[in-house]
Amino acid sequence: MILTDPEFGEVVVRRNGLARGVRFSVSTSGRLSMSVPAHTPNFLIKKYLNSSRDMIREKLPIKDPREQRTRDYQKKIMMKKAREYLPYRLEYFAKLYGYTYDKCRLTHANTRWGSCSSRRTISLNIGLMKVPEALRDYVIIHELAHLNHMDHSAAFWAEVASHDKFYKNHEKKLKMLSPGL
Ligand SMILES: [Zn+2]
Repeated sequence: MILTDPEFGEVVVRRNGLARGVRFSVSTSGRLSMSVPAHTPNFLIKKYLNSSRDMIREKLPIKDPREQRTRDYQKKIMMKKAREYLPYRLEYFAKLYGYTYDKCRLTHANTRWGSCSSRRTISLNIGLMKVPEALRDYVIIHELAHLNHMDHSAAFWAEVASHDKFYKNHEKKLKMLSPGL
């Protein structure tokens, strides 16, 4: 459940069967999280939050809710752009080089630009929308090549190279960037 608090912004509430009391923590994105015993009614959760304000202000490094909102907004815009672009770009390269995949999924994890599952689902990170086209295309080609090689063997890289002769340079550049927002 997500509460919207006027001071702390979005607060992620997790009901946890093993929790004995209420615990507050801050996620990597700077959001406040609350873990509460299962079956805690909503009004009590709000009461705990209100009575813990001083402690939270003093102890927890919460990011400015306005910053959170800006980030959420940027993510939404990027998701919209990605949805209108990445699946079509993937389809374009798949047709061009004769690959068949099952599904295209869009993700926004902070660590991977893309992945390819054994069930032939290709996942692409929406963060690709902020990198140069050549790098974006390289990720797509990389994941398509995984349809034939589920590893990073020499045969895999040879296939990538046949579609993108600057792949080494592209791989290196991507390593210096982060898909997170
Ligand atoms: Zn790979």
